[in-house]
Amino acid sequence: MLYLDHAAATPLRAEARRAMEPYLEAGFGNPSGIHGVSRRAKDAVEAAREQVADILGADHPLDVVFTGGGTESVNLGVWGPLLAAGPGHRLVTSAIEHEAVLAGIGPMGRLGFEATVVGVDWPGLVDPADVAAGVDSRTVVVSVMAANNETGVVLPVAKIAEAVRSARDSVLLHTDAVQAVVGAQADLASLGVDMLSLSGHKFGGPKGVGVLIAPRRVTLEPIIHGGGQELGRRSGTHNVAGIVGLAAALAASVAGASDFGRRIGAERNRFERALSGLVPDAEVTGVGAERLIQHSHVRFPGVRAETLLIRLDASGVAASSGSACQSGATKPSHVLTAMGMSETAARQCVRFTFGHTTADGDGERAAAVVAGAVEALR
Ligand code: PLP
Repeated sequence: MLYLDHAAATPLRAEARRAMEPYLEAGFGNPSGIHGVSRRAKDAVEAAREQVADILGADHPLDVVFTGGGTESVNLGVWGPLLAAGPGHRLVTSAIEHEAVLAGIGPMGRLGFEATVVGVDWPGLVDPADVAAGVDSRTVVVSVMAANNETGVVLPVAKIAEAVRSARDSVLLHTDAVQAVVGAQADLASLGVDMLSLSGHKFGGPKGVGVLIAPRRVTLEPIIHGGGQELGRRSGTHNVAGIVGLAAALAASVAGASDFGRRIGAERNRFERALSGLVPDAEVTGVGAERLIQHSHVRFPGVRAETLLIRLDASGVAASSGSACQSGATKPSHVLTAMGMSETAARQCVRFTFGHTTADGDGERAAAVVAGAVEALR
């Protein structure tokens, strides 16, 4: 099996598994308690918090909020400050965000919150001037993703932050860095943002655990109410093993970033070169923009992505079309149509994403299988 769907989920890293094991066994305690078993769990959570704060450049470990995954982190980072500000306030975001941002706009609109959704160009970039122009006196949060999960295009978040701040410096900048944290620099300083969301399972950590970096000066109205954990910003008993595993995976992923960039970037490039030789009319999306080095999003004219994916699966290649987070989706991708692709063309695109388990030669092997499948379908 050639697993080329790392943007959907990565296999657990050995470092994460090793770090988690003690907390699945003797270290099972609830970190909110008083006794030694609880204290051991609490110490592990706080050590993970310090590690994550350090890697991402947070001012203080307590700026790190552990959540139940990327979707929750994004929801808290985007809507937490707006809920605190009250109805009538506004979010500015882009048309190519993950559903974790876009799907909240309707329900929050019914509660009186407004949103301005900025369009994108071809090859999928957001113009900082367009975002700044969308900001007004009622804007509380601007959220533009650091890299798109479908195309792998890296967005100019630092430039967007700069443009927004010169338009109105009280606005909070949030970025969904769930995909960018692998294969691009994704710390607070290089992105120039106040808040950043991550998800453990995209970089070799476990599923169902995420991080929101939100400085304590940012008032977040919680979206999950309960026992007041995480300074009252996110209630619920900590997922201790998950949090420890996320921190270990993040540390391993960042420590290996330059090797990953060289090795996986070369593999992705060999894949695209081989594919363009074998299927000359295949079109790589996002060319002309900076792309995540592990990401390849390709259109095969005349071939339906769903049919191709089934054939690839039978031939031992795991890939996906559009966003795998919305499994079973039959609608054409909102990202590709926002970029100006026709619905027909958008249904002909497949995403291949390499990752930490990719082996030398996988790129060329995958290109041969993909080319064979495309030829058979045509
Ligand atoms: N944001 C982006 C860009 C993603 O790619 C994903 C998942 O694919 C998410 C958010 C949601 O993260 P999670 O699956 O942890 O809820």
